[in-house]
Amino acid sequence: MLTKELAAPNDLEAFWMPFTANRHFKAHPRLIARAEGMYYTLTDGRRLIDATAGLWCCNAGHARSRIVEAIQRQAAELDFAPTFQWGHPLAFQLASRLANLFPGDLDHAFFTNSGSESVDTALKIALAYQRAIGQGTRTRLIGRERGYHGVGFGGISVGGIVKNRMYFGSLLTGVDHLPHTLDLEKNRFSRGQPEHGAELADNLERIIALHDASTIAAVIVEPVAGSIGVYPPPKGYLERLRAITEKHGILLIFDEVITAYGRLGASSAAEYFGVQPDLVTTAKGLTSGTVPMGAVMARKHVYDAIVNGEGAGPEKAIELFHGYTYSAHPLACAAALATLETYKEEGLFERAAELAPYWEERLHALRGKPNVIDIRNIGLMGAVELSARPGKPGERGYDAMLKACDKGLMIRITGDTIAMSPPLIVTREEIDQIMDRLGETLDELE
Ligand code: PMP
Repeated sequence: MLTKELAAPNDLEAFWMPFTANRHFKAHPRLIARAEGMYYTLTDGRRLIDATAGLWCCNAGHARSRIVEAIQRQAAELDFAPTFQWGHPLAFQLASRLANLFPGDLDHAFFTNSGSESVDTALKIALAYQRAIGQGTRTRLIGRERGYHGVGFGGISVGGIVKNRMYFGSLLTGVDHLPHTLDLEKNRFSRGQPEHGAELADNLERIIALHDASTIAAVIVEPVAGSIGVYPPPKGYLERLRAITEKHGILLIFDEVITAYGRLGASSAAEYFGVQPDLVTTAKGLTSGTVPMGAVMARKHVYDAIVNGEGAGPEKAIELFHGYTYSAHPLACAAALATLETYKEEGLFERAAELAPYWEERLHALRGKPNVIDIRNIGLMGAVELSARPGKPGERGYDAMLKACDKGLMIRITGDTIAMSPPLIVTREEIDQIMDRLGETLDELE
């Protein structure tokens, strides 16, 4: 027998769930059956308004017919094509679209299947670039405390979330971390970018003084720290990081897995903040979450040094010995092209920009609700931080998620912080619905 009997449909044991308290979930499962527009329907029939765009990814909303049909057509036409030594037209078409979408000369796309793969790819590109320009001693990578860059070994090494790192050995060597920009008392209840903390970027000078610039390849940061609970960068912070990295020949990588594709009301955080990184990692909104796909956008000088042998290094045209079987998978390319078309035709980035002030106003109106100790927002991202119950961090947040679910609202929690990032199709009425339900949740929470 090649196959075992199918498990009973209600047997939850075999699926080892990611980033989930497995035993707790399996005792109280919440199973999602369908999705449409702004809504999820659970297997028990309950309908939830999706205030998280799935997992920060379904920016065009759910089950959009243009995207669904593009995937269906593509599956019938060309199910798979290798992109090692071969190609297919959609891959080139999509890369060109992305080159037009991202600002400045971020005009080459390397395709991956996830944010984590995009991060590891960008780190490898940075190292290969330094070698290609004859700076092979530059092998050190700089991340930031509390940063989230996915779960690959590269990503957890430059990342700064202790539980994601502590179980997995010594990680990449030669990594250092900038201090985080979070939890400055003076920044509490800031609207948009906080006023204080730009000088934290100057710690990069301290790190450079310690190791010497000739050992440092790249700095990677999330322009808006997302997973840790929506922390926009202090005013001037990203500009200072850019100035320091440029001065010292260090590449700057923006991890835009959450912020790219409209979340801030622009193509990317790079465009929104007017700061030009050398590499940008993306995923999620690229296909609106429908088919797994990521893309690393690289500036011209980075691509040319590695691929066209235009660096000053001794090895000419080293190429990049890197790629995934599913890089530029035809179904993902079809989904991405249809997604980008949807964003454009419906003006969803502009719509996000227009709605952002209303989102901010309604979110900050939750100030004063029980246990709320901070509220943060930027674009169509928002967070409400609750105080932890004494000795029980995360418990109040978890209860908030369950109570919100009972009220027909899907939110995301990280510790005791509620994070939200609705699909960009959200209406004012739906923002009202989200905030009303969240307000009731907070009122009733112990
Ligand atoms: N980088 C950032 C900034 C992210 O927010 C995430 C996911 N939330 C990742 C990387 C990892 O993406 P994935 O889960 O697709 O690997």
